[in-house]
Amino acid sequence: MHGLMMGDQLLVTNIMRFADRNFPDTEIVSVIGGHSVHRCTYADAFKRTRRLANALRTLGLQEGDRIGTLAWNDFRHFEIYYAASCSGAVCHTVNPRLFPEQIAYIVDHAQDQWIFADPMFADLLDSLWPTLQSPQGVIFLTDADHVPDTGIPRVLDYESLIAEQDEQFDWPDLDERSASALCYTSGTTGHPKGVLYDHRSTIIHAYAACMPDVMGLANRDTVLAVVPMFHANAWSLPYACPMVGARMVLPGPAMGDPAMLADLMDSESVTATMGVPTVWLSLLAYLRESGRRPGDLERMVVGGAACPRSLMEAFQDEYGVRVHHSWGMTEMSPLGVFNSPTRGALSLPPEQHPDIRIKQGRGVFGVEMRIVDENSDELPWDGVTSGALQVRGPWVCGEYFQPDEPDPAHLEDGWFDTGDVATIDRLGFMQITDRAKDVIKSGGEWISSIGLENATMGHPEVAEAAVIAVPHPKWSERPLLLIVRREGSELSRETILQWLEPMVARWWLPEEVLFIDEIPHTATGKIAKTELRQRYGRHPLPGASTE
Ligand code: AMP
Repeated sequence: MHGLMMGDQLLVTNIMRFADRNFPDTEIVSVIGGHSVHRCTYADAFKRTRRLANALRTLGLQEGDRIGTLAWNDFRHFEIYYAASCSGAVCHTVNPRLFPEQIAYIVDHAQDQWIFADPMFADLLDSLWPTLQSPQGVIFLTDADHVPDTGIPRVLDYESLIAEQDEQFDWPDLDERSASALCYTSGTTGHPKGVLYDHRSTIIHAYAACMPDVMGLANRDTVLAVVPMFHANAWSLPYACPMVGARMVLPGPAMGDPAMLADLMDSESVTATMGVPTVWLSLLAYLRESGRRPGDLERMVVGGAACPRSLMEAFQDEYGVRVHHSWGMTEMSPLGVFNSPTRGALSLPPEQHPDIRIKQGRGVFGVEMRIVDENSDELPWDGVTSGALQVRGPWVCGEYFQPDEPDPAHLEDGWFDTGDVATIDRLGFMQITDRAKDVIKSGGEWISSIGLENATMGHPEVAEAAVIAVPHPKWSERPLLLIVRREGSELSRETILQWLEPMVARWWLPEEVLFIDEIPHTATGKIAKTELRQRYGRHPLPGASTE
């Protein structure tokens, strides 16, 4: 028997209509070109969105067509998100930090019809243009006076494109399973793979993101989105904020500039912010150096890579900011787990609280998780046993977009293999111990590179640390610890090993410590382990040849 409720489709269009009607005066603050601040309201942005939707039709774009973006977090990118998805096209966010060859591959694989690009990427597009097959032209996100000079034959500017368009647009009644957005994951092997979100998954995911024990977004919030709109939908903020009418602060290309982030926190009275650990590490260093404070910031979400304990403690203890750890993936829209205190966790002795808070978090309703051994048998939630982490749910990718190669991640029984290794404790808190390919197998036991990195990062003279496996004749692999020292530090191998000794099992202690100038990062701000392995993966270990 069917229920008798109205069967309205869950569409991104509904968020737009709702915010337009209920929160017309709520502000979107954007940093443009790295310095100037632009202000508009949701009503302004959605009026321009309707003009843009008309412009997309004049460009000949049809339902299902892909529109590429190479853009930062700002109001124009926000408008494209909505104009593309709500008119039935697909907003394909391209990560400009990827290698140019990867960008070319992604644009052509997605068959992007037009590219909306920040003028900053003019040279990049100019050089790629002769190789690109699918796009008809480029629309630069600027006005007629600031269009960069390129050899690209069809170039338009965004402001002229929408200027003459009608302010009304008849949004189509889409099926909620229609594709709304596309984002490629930069896998370390093979080509990047496309994750094709739909309207339904986007709406359900945005609801979940707003829940009190998740990001807890509320109308009174001013949210500084330091997660890029070109990576996994900026963790849903462009949907979740308008859903509740939260004020948005979009930092544009200044995302990596800690002084600018501190300025925005101050001037805009930011209450909540989200980003990857590298961003927060540089903000912390800046705040300490400058003696400034993070304005009225109440809470910070750290995800995308493991949050170092020292980072969490510094923001909590020094600045009174609540730090929440979270884990997810592009394939999960991206929300997987979120760390908020539960009754069970709070009833534990206080000295155990930090150990719980540093875990990645608990499953959010909508994501089912399990850990399994190599035979796919489910492992216990005892907080000790680690296994391959698998997930499923309505906002988890069901298959990749037109894959070039067989896809081992999607399993026959409907689960998705995340490629992460994790423990889950009896309270349901999941902790990532490693990426499956980063784990160090020593004498048949697993050493967590994340565990070692976290412990090392706690040392006040360490700016950043990474651990990789190096082959060893007796143990098969042993950990090599790579450290970037803080400026002026003379930290030695012996000191850091003594520091680690009480924190990790003896056999985890790194075989060798190398002090390096810089740790490379991927286009999404994670430690580039593949590159580190290429550079240091054969580093001779002391005593290894005689074992
Ligand atoms: P991406 O799809 O580029 O966002 O990458 C997803 C991957 O980032 C996950 O599979 C994890 O390996 C890693 N990741 C994301 N969040 C965390 C976290 N909080 N701690 C550790 N690893 C994380």
